[in-house]
Amino acid sequence: MKSVRAKKKLGQHFLKDLNIARKISETLTFENYKKVVEIGPGMGVLTQFLIEKTKDLNLIEIDSDSAAYLKNRYEEKDFNLIVGDFLKLDIEKTFGSEPLAIIGNFPYNISTQIIFKTLEHRNQIPFFSGMFQKEVAERICESPGSKKYGILSVLTQLFYKTKLLFEVTPEVFKPKPKVVSAVIMLERKENLNLDCDEKLLFKIVKLSFQQRRKTLRNSLKTLNIPEMLREDSIFDKRPEMLSGKDFVQLAKKIGHGNISN
Ligand code: SAH
Repeated sequence: MKSVRAKKKLGQHFLKDLNIARKISETLTFENYKKVVEIGPGMGVLTQFLIEKTKDLNLIEIDSDSAAYLKNRYEEKDFNLIVGDFLKLDIEKTFGSEPLAIIGNFPYNISTQIIFKTLEHRNQIPFFSGMFQKEVAERICESPGSKKYGILSVLTQLFYKTKLLFEVTPEVFKPKPKVVSAVIMLERKENLNLDCDEKLLFKIVKLSFQQRRKTLRNSLKTLNIPEMLREDSIFDKRPEMLSGKDFVQLAKKIGHGNISN
């Protein structure tokens, strides 16, 4: 079968190494979900292993050449193929409200957007695993105090346990990407109750990291924090020193009597 010619603007780097594809498929635990959604299957290097693991496999692929290839190579009953943009996909309309796992060797040009969409739909997504460029994988999994610790780390780790599983060198892709890759796994924290105004929390995290060298007192000026509260020593800190829990505490403190939009 004629392979798909890689399109740069779609972030297409096809994985050649079957062992790595198998290892990614083996991250699936099926603990609290049956449905699996693969983003960007391309020519199906990972898909072939997922077919073995689940009867409820759904693929979302933006590239019609790849979609045609998949239809040709596999049987119709193997999966439900949606040709379209994951970022525009209406998850509830398409899959109902059933829990689902997201997996993939993802398009790197939309990595952070994939994570943000997952966070937005976290109630339906107990599990997420797959490959990103290493730098993004690190930003997701990093702990406080590190240079790479930021919005992506705080927000993801509020709702998920994150693990960076292993790195992958450029040589195993065609065409080779310019960067090293890494496989991560996110498991949702169950029975989580943040007990704070979430909109305000997200706003605080974003505002704080927009000026990561400044103290919180400086970065959060626009939030009309009461004078008394501003004396609190937490405002002397820089955002990279705060864990997700610290940000939640901060949102609680600021939340009383503050506007959240
Ligand atoms: N999983 C395959 C392909 C990885 S390349 C492999 O491992 O070989 C990334 C894939 O994501 C490509 O097939 C690309 O067409 C697809 N893609 C890019 N943007 C997308 C989007 N917005 N929604 C769905 N798929 C997308």
